[in-house]
Amino acid sequence: MEWEVVIGLEIHAQLATKSKIFSGASTQYGAQPNTQACAVDLGFPGVLPVLNQEAVKMAIKFGLAVGAELTPRSVFERKNYFYPDLPKGYQISQFELPVVGKGELTIELEDGTEKVIGITRAHLEEDAGKSMHGNFGGHTGVDLNRAGTPLLEIVSEPDMSSAKEAVAYMKKIHALVRYIDICDGNMQEGSFRCDANVSVRSMGQKELGTRAELKNINSFRNVERGINVEVERQIELLEEGGTVVQETRLYDADKNETRSMRSKEEANDYRYFPDPDLLPLVLEESMIESIRRSLPELPNAKRDRFVQEFKLSDYDATVLTSTRELADYYESALKQAKPSDPKLCANWVTGTLSAALNKADLDITESPVDAAKFAGLLSRIGDNTISGNIAKKVFEALWHGEGDSADTIIEAQGLKQVTDAGAIEAIVDEVIAKCPDQVADYRGGKEQIIGFLVGQVMQASKGKANPAQVNEVLRKKLTS
Ligand code: ADP
Ligand code: MG
Repeated sequence: MEWEVVIGLEIHAQLATKSKIFSGASTQYGAQPNTQACAVDLGFPGVLPVLNQEAVKMAIKFGLAVGAELTPRSVFERKNYFYPDLPKGYQISQFELPVVGKGELTIELEDGTEKVIGITRAHLEEDAGKSMHGNFGGHTGVDLNRAGTPLLEIVSEPDMSSAKEAVAYMKKIHALVRYIDICDGNMQEGSFRCDANVSVRSMGQKELGTRAELKNINSFRNVERGINVEVERQIELLEEGGTVVQETRLYDADKNETRSMRSKEEANDYRYFPDPDLLPLVLEESMIESIRRSLPELPNAKRDRFVQEFKLSDYDATVLTSTRELADYYESALKQAKPSDPKLCANWVTGTLSAALNKADLDITESPVDAAKFAGLLSRIGDNTISGNIAKKVFEALWHGEGDSADTIIEAQGLKQVTDAGAIEAIVDEVIAKCPDQVADYRGGKEQIIGFLVGQVMQASKGKANPAQVNEVLRKKLTS
């Protein structure tokens, strides 16, 4: 039997506001436990929540960025459940009327095609605290600093049909929230995490299969692995004649398996009801318009512009606009390089620079070679002062801080390309004298031997001779 995989994601993005969603306490990560939870976050009797306008603006920004319907009058509700990290006994969330309604996002698949993923809704809510299973003399600690941190929960339609698609979608949302500056996207710190709903159905079947929900996965890699093992589990189960039960499961990355946390029967009845302490959230048209005008260029628009303006391939443009920081770096380097060569700059950013960053596990914003220095290097390639190969050496030196610009390194290490015709001729003569057999072969019609001879000349010049010139001089001398 052929199986079809169905996936829907619920992504939680912590909004990058300075203070919490219903109180003035700081949202700064990493403070001493319980130093950033005020009476409102702790749910003391008599306190009243006050909605943070910045969080609302960020939700609107997101809604506009995915072309979503915005709800003119949305409502905050209490989601009631008992857990040690939730002192109020309920979480303030949105249920029936979320601030952001239906939208969509286009993702690029590996084969180069695109797919539109529906966004069901995005709603505002508060984060809970954190249980700490550290050294507390046999007890569990509770840190309530995170309680009340604003979250935007972004719920997708069950539109994805493989783990790879789910990751592509999650990465796209990740890039987007950072583009529009509403979330720092830091997955290690839990600023961006996801629940993956997974089901399978036999190919061609209309109704959705029963799903399992994998909770709180906090890396792209684990989303992919978690979904894949869960799909395997469900298919195996069904093929053995069993049935999938609707439940919440935990993905254990160490064992690469999913385990049941609670089934539907044990599921909470959240008894949602409108929070009587909060007024409905009414969006004013003027506020929406001013946010619309303040939106930065979005990833897809930027990619299309890169193709148009810089004549880059779709692939290069997609890679370069995958994050706002990378796109900014590219444009900044390109602008400062003289001559300014978009294709050369794209090759170097996606090639040598990206490889070095990957190897060192660094983000583009942490690159030891900043855009200005990088532009200095591109300039010397562009004006033929150095060849591509020598440029790699100069890049290495820049990367390791062996000089503060490409020019000082080229000067100090004597790497200038030799373009002086006399100097090149001298080396060519030397090589011809040293390699009589190869020269005879060439003259006898074995043309491909030229590659060897060019190599000899390049080596003799320590890579500094201009390869095109070497080729030309060699051919002239060999045929004369
Ligand atoms: P809940 O609030 O109980 O988690 P929702 O109906 O809001 O349930 O769905 C949450 C997520 O699960 C959505 O992203 C949705 O696309 C996805 N989903 C719903 N049904 C299925 C299914 N049968 N298979 C895979 N994903 C599903
Ligand atoms: Mg859910």
